[in-house]
Amino acid sequence: MGEGGAGEALDTLLRRGAERIAAGRGCDRGEALFEARLLAGFVTGLDTTALMLQGDRPLDADTREAVDRLFDRRAAGEPVAYLVGERGFWRYRFQTAPGVLIPRPDTEVLVEWALERLPERTAPCVLDLGTGTGAIGLSIAAERPAACVHAVDRSETATRLAARNRAFLAEQGASVGMGIWQGDWLSAVAPESVDLIVSNPPYIDADDPHLRLGDVRHEPVEALVAADAGLADYRRIVEQASSVLRPGGWLLFEHGFEQADAVAALLDQAGFEAIETRRDLGKQPRVTGG
Ligand code: GLN
Repeated sequence: MGEGGAGEALDTLLRRGAERIAAGRGCDRGEALFEARLLAGFVTGLDTTALMLQGDRPLDADTREAVDRLFDRRAAGEPVAYLVGERGFWRYRFQTAPGVLIPRPDTEVLVEWALERLPERTAPCVLDLGTGTGAIGLSIAAERPAACVHAVDRSETATRLAARNRAFLAEQGASVGMGIWQGDWLSAVAPESVDLIVSNPPYIDADDPHLRLGDVRHEPVEALVAADAGLADYRRIVEQASSVLRPGGWLLFEHGFEQADAVAALLDQAGFEAIETRRDLGKQPRVTGG
């Protein structure tokens, strides 16, 4: 901070910001410049094209300071999605906030598979367990207006944010009626009431070094870490799921890339059939269901 002289133009600010972000995060310059543009765009209201074409645009001191502050926070590791307050997922923008896991592109595989299991014309009942921002449940609800979709999360911060996102989707043209409930997995769900359960529960082992690297350090540990080598919440959900699902119902889980066999074994032991695993965008086993 403080290197920029009076009247410093956008280009110079972006270049310096990208250097600081690259140094702070240990990422390459291209990625850092991309993030610097996102942050500067958030403050100035300029889109990416304008940011590139208007590089010699002078910025007033307040704007420069606001942009610089975000660059510093990003260089210190705060996730871009928390700094700008939203993240794109599936077809929509979702609001994000500290205390709630940021939606990941890999989780779109879970949405895609869920939609395949949901024919357009019937009125199936879908449950999203540990909904967080609501990204999974709301995306499904937006694609299948005839489905009844409910979402559960133990965290009040999450259920409030999911409700905000339900309204945010309506602003984006998708009026969805998803029910949002605070609760502990399936404990409050009626027997034989659900056709499809989807969940991205916490699944990382507390000792996993991944937890000490990068953006994930700023995300809520309750949404990331599970006991029993990351399998504890799968066990709890699978135990309760058989009685909650209607005959012929499905349960689809996101999991860590080394957990496919363990999750498949839990489903198999509980009597699930046609168990299958799908891969994420990086070709890693990521979603298992049956
Ligand atoms: N996939 C996320 C990560 O690796 C973890 C998501 C989760 O624990 N449900 O950071």
